[in-house]
Parts: sequence; structure tokens; C-alpha cells
Amino acid sequence: MSEPALTDRVNLLGCTPEKLAAFFVSIGEKPFRATQVLKWIHQQGVTDFTEMTNLAKPLREKLVEIAEVRPPTILFQGDSQDGTRKWLMEVDGGSSIETVYIPDGDRGTLCVSSQVGCSLDCSFCATGKQGFNKNLTPAEIIGQVFLAAKSFGLPVKDTEKRAITNVVMMGMGEPLLNFEPVVDAMTLMMEDQAYGLSKRRVTLSTSGCGASA
Ligand code: SF4
Repeated sequence: MSEPALTDRVNLLGCTPEKLAAFFVSIGEKPFRATQVLKWIHQQGVTDFTEMTNLAKPLREKLVEIAEVRPPTILFQGDSQDGTRKWLMEVDGGSSIETVYIPDGDRGTLCVSSQVGCSLDCSFCATGKQGFNKNLTPAEIIGQVFLAAKSFGLPVKDTEKRAITNVVMMGMGEPLLNFEPVVDAMTLMMEDQAYGLSKRRVTLSTSGCGASA
């Protein structure tokens, strides 16, 4: 039998704990596997199932066949002198999105995109001028946090040393128009087995105003 194409595989990167547990039950495994895999992905930055050594070998082999952990592709990453770090990332379909990290004292804020383009066309905004292209998937939203955290070489969860202390949904797009994927990604940002950010540090900003999760 030929191998499934990458895109046929289930991308586990954007799965909330509940959805990941349901996935494992659906393939005849115990739901607690979700906790193990969440930690590997979001706290250790591991995308290769064969490296998830507390999973039995047959399960690792099964996951290699049917699943993947696939973030967006980094097209560009650049640092400014003030410590700001910017990324251009390619998502499914070939469009690109922007993500920005802004350090400020003991705070490091990651500004995350929720859509490619935007339908709202606020007068001051270049993204609005390009029109709406597509909604990002949960994997493409949380994938920005995943890649940014990896670029600093530290899991976000490490409260002593973490670079990213806050996330704001203020990049490209209107998050409320891509509600469910945004909620799934924010669930992972605040999940103890993933990034463990407190509710006060994860902010959803709608056009013109911001509100904590
Ligand atoms: S909602 Fe945000 S991304 Fe969309 S046009 Fe307005 S400012 Fe730009």
C-alpha cells in the first residue's frame, strides 16, 4: 500500500486536549495518550513521533502512518535592534502571514494572526486593503506560537525563563470571524499541558478593541 500524502494525515498540532483524546480513542488507544503527546509537541517542540519515547513503538509507528505535527513554513525570520522579532510564514494554499514578537522589560508579547487578509478594511490597515483570503486552521494559529517558542530555544511553559509571556490575537485578520479555530488555539495557549499561559496574558483583540480571554 502506498504511503498517505502528508496532507492526508491528521495534523495533531492544533488539537485541543479534548480533541486529541477523542483522536486516540478513535484509533483504539487510551485517552491519556493525549497528555503525553501534548507535552511532546508544545512543551518539548517535538514533531517526529519516533522521538516520543514514552509511547509504545507500535503506537509511534501507527502515528507516523496516519498523523503529523506540521506548523506553517518559516519564509523569513528577522530581528531588530530593539529585540523585536518578525516572521513571515507560509500556510496551506501558499499564502503568507505575519507574526511579531515584542519584548518590553520582563514581558514578551507575541502578536499572532488569525486569517490571511481581512474582510473588514479598517482605514489605517494595510491587511484590510488586500481583502480576505482564508481563515487559518487551529494548527496554523497555534503553529505561530509553536515556531516562535522554538526560535527562542525555550518552551513557553518554562515560567522562569520563557521569552513569550503574553499572546495577543492582533496580527492579520479579525479573530471573531474565525471563532472556533481561534478558540481552539487559545485553549492550547492556556492549557497547562501545553503553553500554560494565564488567562490574563492571552488577549483576543477585535477590530478596534481588545479583551482578555
Ligand atoms: S480588523 Fe484588523 S486586520 Fe482587519 S482590517 Fe481591521 S485592523 Fe486590519
